[in-house]
Amino acid sequence: DADMALNAAKAAGKDRVVWYDHTLRDRQTERIETVARLRLALGADEFAVYYQPIVDLGTSQTVAVEALVRWLPPGRPPIGPDRFIPAAEESGLIVALGEWVLRRACAEAATWHREHGVTLTVNVSPRQLTDDDFTAKVRRSLLDSGLPATALTLEITEGILVSAGTRSAQALDHLEALRADGIRIAVDDFGTGYSSLAYLRDLPIDTLKIDKSLMPADEDDHRQVALVRTVVDMARSLGLTTVAEGVETPFHATLLHTLGCDRAQGYHFARPMPAADLIARRVLLPHAHAV
Ligand code: C2E
Ligand code: MG
Ligand code: MG
Ligand code: MG
Repeated sequence: DADMALNAAKAAGKDRVVWYDHTLRDRQTERIETVARLRLALGADEFAVYYQPIVDLGTSQTVAVEALVRWLPPGRPPIGPDRFIPAAEESGLIVALGEWVLRRACAEAATWHREHGVTLTVNVSPRQLTDDDFTAKVRRSLLDSGLPATALTLEITEGILVSAGTRSAQALDHLEALRADGIRIAVDDFGTGYSSLAYLRDLPIDTLKIDKSLMPADEDDHRQVALVRTVVDMARSLGLTTVAEGVETPFHATLLHTLGCDRAQGYHFARPMPAADLIARRVLLPHAHAV
């Protein structure tokens, strides 16, 4: 009996190890399957670009839209980028997906820019900035769409620029070439990473996007209010345009306007929406002032 119990325990223990191995392997298999499915989805045109309005806090008008990719598998609800961008980045598929987003967004936004004066912002992953052809691809997207360079902002995260080495040198080369064309560069999610305002001075950037995690809960959240005030003040003293993300309440909007923040984006104004809704819901006004 004792031997049987021991064997059972060993078997259970072994099973547990096997089961654990299995999960790891399953996770890897899952990643590979995800990438394979993403690749097929890209070929089958299952991606869409949603757009979220960016509002001028002085006029309350939509002056720009941020392109945010969605995966729309047939017959299933849309899948958000947080669930597939990491796999796309790891596998390098982000280079093709990012180019697709850029081309689609430029094509759709060219009309909005012509008719409503709004500009476009597009997220760029670090991996795209190590692609030799990145500058050429952006120029090609602009030429093919007719969107002027000055109507495009590329959003990058600060990590890629602060790390030393050839990869960040190449990224800087791309950004400097594109900036010389008139394209603007925004640092996305400021406040989540290194977040040193000192080094921002030396980077080829135009805009600072203040991360949603910095938004104060309410007016009694004095520490957070002071933090946002400091970020806005310093960004302004560096000549950067400031955009607040995650503006969810009237309090947020009023506070940011009072602090001198230029623009805001968040559920208080509008959620990301399909291209057709921007027009159907009259988000874009005729001849909103061009920026
Ligand atoms: P992000 O660039 O910082 O985009 C803002 C995210 O915040 C979006 O999530 C947006 O839906 C969400 N958001 C907007 N307003 C609010 C608000 O008031 N409250 C809260 N809690 N959230 C708000 P989304 O669309 O799920 O995108 C997540 C991230 O995925 C993006 O963050 C960006 O880093 C990445 N991403 C999206 N599209 C692309 C793309 O085409 N290429 C690359 N490389 N990354 C992308
Ligand atoms: Mg962004
Ligand atoms: Mg952001
Ligand atoms: Mg983000």
